[in-house]
Amino acid sequence: MNAEQKVNLLNLDRSSMEQFFLSMGEKPFRARQVMQWIHQRGITDFEQMTDLAKTLRAKLQQEACVLLPEVTVDQLSIDGTRKWLLHMDGVENAVECVLIPEENRTTLCISSQVGCTLNCSFCSTAKQGFNRNLTTAEIIGQLYLAHHSLLRDGREQGVTNVVMMGMGEPLLNFDAVMSALNIMCDDFAYCLSKRRVTISTAGVVPAILKLRESTDVSLAVSLHAPNDELRNQLVPLNKKYPINQLLEACRSYLEGHNRRRITFEYVMLKGINDSLQHARELARILKNIPSKLNLIPFNPYPQAVYECSDRETIDQFREYVVNQGIVTVTRKTRGEDIDAACGQLVGKVMDKSRRSHNYQLSLKDITGLNHVSS
Ligand code: SAH
Repeated sequence: MNAEQKVNLLNLDRSSMEQFFLSMGEKPFRARQVMQWIHQRGITDFEQMTDLAKTLRAKLQQEACVLLPEVTVDQLSIDGTRKWLLHMDGVENAVECVLIPEENRTTLCISSQVGCTLNCSFCSTAKQGFNRNLTTAEIIGQLYLAHHSLLRDGREQGVTNVVMMGMGEPLLNFDAVMSALNIMCDDFAYCLSKRRVTISTAGVVPAILKLRESTDVSLAVSLHAPNDELRNQLVPLNKKYPINQLLEACRSYLEGHNRRRITFEYVMLKGINDSLQHARELARILKNIPSKLNLIPFNPYPQAVYECSDRETIDQFREYVVNQGIVTVTRKTRGEDIDAACGQLVGKVMDKSRRSHNYQLSLKDITGLNHVSS
């Protein structure tokens, strides 16, 4: 069997791996053993999986493989943030993945697609267009690489938190993301609690409702504007799923989970969405939803048409919403010197949407701060 026909075991969550072993005439509990070898011990060579019978190891050698993304660039920021460029399929497509060490936890920011289809006007990933969804193996492979690199460096603890806030819209790659979440939270793999795994979405309403049926990981919603008129410009997906539908889906996501909250992300764009009037509207729409608000200072990138709000403006905005009873933090920007901050992840996208091409053209005649691409 050549490499392409082999089953990449990184694509399989526990129940799929049990099926895989059953189809080989093996006992399903082999799935737990093999998952522990791969995900917990970082062993990908079947020969080293010593509690498997020799015949089974040989069979696995024949039919299966553990194929990881390839790290092609590894950058370390002065603040300890680390960014990897990962090639997924030879030289063609690459995504970025960021490791953020803090005092008591280490957070990994994972990508879910090569590029993105949503085209948010302030996001640099959007400018690259879209190529394809990542597979489960490519998503969980990011965690594998980060986790085992920490352990290899002698850290006691690997990755403690995962945020799906890298490139792409995770809820538009639903099935692969769900399997990856299963592996993240599996006791025989990374044992992450669901509270420590966050999916961030620009607001794919039907997928939020579907997510609720399958899991209860933490949910972050990229809101960025308090009314439809402005949000239509910043997050074009809003034209399909306007704010009231989105907030309704958020409410239903929380049903039955008394102590949980939705995190709303709000990028601070100078002169666009940062006035006290915006703060007032925002406080009003979030009033009845158990929520936390993350104010994200806009991170610039070459050719960005927006600027970050002034520190003072951000503080005033924050003070206003806090006084309205909304738990709010201004996110610290990490890894700026290596372009690893929110919205700066670009990877390498063999753009199929031609958006990157159109964007280059439209940059020539930008007249205002409106949406500038195709
Ligand atoms: N598509 C998902 C996942 C991407 S998360 C989503 O939209 O939630 C990346 C987060 O960073 C989102 O909240 C996004 O809106 C925000 N972001 C994008 N570009 C940014 C920039 N230049 N500065 C700050 N935040 C940005």
